[in-house]
Amino acid sequence: MKMRFETRAIHVGEEPNLRPGGSGDVVVPIHLASTFARRETDKPTSGYEYSRTANPTRAALEKRLAALEDAKFALAFASGMAAETVLLLTLLKPGDHVILSDDLYGGTKRLCHHVLQKNFKIGFSHVDLSYPEDIRNAIRRNTKLIWIETPTNPLMKVCDIKAASKIARKKSVLVVVDNTFMTPCFQKPLKLGADVVVHSTTKYLNGHSDSVGGCIILSSEEIHERLKFNQNALGAILSPFDSYLVLRGLKTLAVRMEKHNKNAMTLSSFLEKARKVKKVLYPGLENHPQHELAKKQASGFGGMISFEVYGGLRGARRFLESLKIFSLAESLGGVESLAEHPASMTHSSIPKKERERIGISDSLIRLSVGIEDIADLKEDIHNALGRL
Ligand SMILES: *Cc1c(COP(=O)(O)O)cnc(C)c1O
Repeated sequence: MKMRFETRAIHVGEEPNLRPGGSGDVVVPIHLASTFARRETDKPTSGYEYSRTANPTRAALEKRLAALEDAKFALAFASGMAAETVLLLTLLKPGDHVILSDDLYGGTKRLCHHVLQKNFKIGFSHVDLSYPEDIRNAIRRNTKLIWIETPTNPLMKVCDIKAASKIARKKSVLVVVDNTFMTPCFQKPLKLGADVVVHSTTKYLNGHSDSVGGCIILSSEEIHERLKFNQNALGAILSPFDSYLVLRGLKTLAVRMEKHNKNAMTLSSFLEKARKVKKVLYPGLENHPQHELAKKQASGFGGMISFEVYGGLRGARRFLESLKIFSLAESLGGVESLAEHPASMTHSSIPKKERERIGISDSLIRLSVGIEDIADLKEDIHNALGRL
């Protein structure tokens, strides 16, 4: 039976084993064994041999993750950065060139410039991916890959995945989409033409801020074979306990995303009207430059909002330190609301001049809107703005 998204999010990978000797658990056990016994030397009896190579709890999660992105394969890793590292080391070799958005998760930027460029001679260009023409112009003879985040972090720019994939395909360039902000609940990059999806499961997929993990999702058998080999060879796998937590978190993904989206929509309109707010960046707002595109390529706008307050750095600090329900913390995607200051927290590794050039000003604030009662969130924001 072909299940729909919300049903898959609960059932795929956790089908109860009702065969003789099976326990019938409706929740997959946390398989802690590091090794698995076999009857014969030349083949693993159960299919499992050593837990780094494959583990039944992780396999259940990988099966579900693939099902949620409508893909054939998924691989789970110890963090989003571990997934990105394995993916890039698998797909690239010295001398290759990669196109990245100019506004990007800070850790991805660090991996690319401080490890892959420095030690492996891989070249990177940053492009504003909200202009597909600029992608075409940035492709070189040695370009192997385009790395897309949409919406971007923290400026919430939207990239047309379909248009970018079309340009890339003509030049045999692979398209990777970091789908952490939207999740497959709202956006399916593989359906829009991308080749590979990555996630930090730390964020919305787990959703409860109590596990760090990542994954790679794709349908190409050839690339999957290489990635699976390297997952084992490099060893940065997701633990059985974390796999269980993400399996558990995913069951409520659809209801959580709906509420994140609803709360963020209400809060962004509220911020837009606030006297002390200079500008609000949220794809759900009609005045967002790519609002129509966001509506077309995704079925929701997500729970992330960025905005600028009047009063510069002092104003931003005062606002953030006055919040009571929003915790002042990095990360995102949990049920609880978080607020942060990109210039001094998540994006502080980018030099100030560069930060300002791309639009990450000292008065920019990023919110991860949780699923609390919206009236409390509004009141918290209202009171903190009142302190400016
Ligand atoms: C957090 C994050 C990552 C990195 O994931 P970790 O689990 O922290 O290693 C990558 N991309 C995006 C968009 C993120 O938000």
